[in-house]
Amino acid sequence: MPIFDFQCQECGRKFDLMISNADKAKATCPECKSNNIKQMLSLFNTGAAGKSAPVSDNCSSCSARTSGG
Ligand SMILES: [Zn+2]
Repeated sequence: MPIFDFQCQECGRKFDLMISNADKAKATCPECKSNNIKQMLSLFNTGAAGKSAPVSDNCSSCSARTSGG
C-alpha cells in the first residue's frame, strides 16, 4: 500500500498516511481531525526526462573536479 504525504491546511501539520488511493478522499489530519488537507509532492523526482541531465561519464570539458573534501 502506498504512502502519501499530506499537510494540514488548518494547523499546518505534516504527516504521512499509508492508505489506498481511494482512501485519500477521506483522510483527515491526525492533529486537529480536519479534512482540509493537501497532498504533498513526492520527493523522488530527480531530474526526469525533459531537460538535459548533468549525468555524463565522458565529461572531458568539465573543470577539474576534486573528489572528496
Ligand atoms: Zn490539522
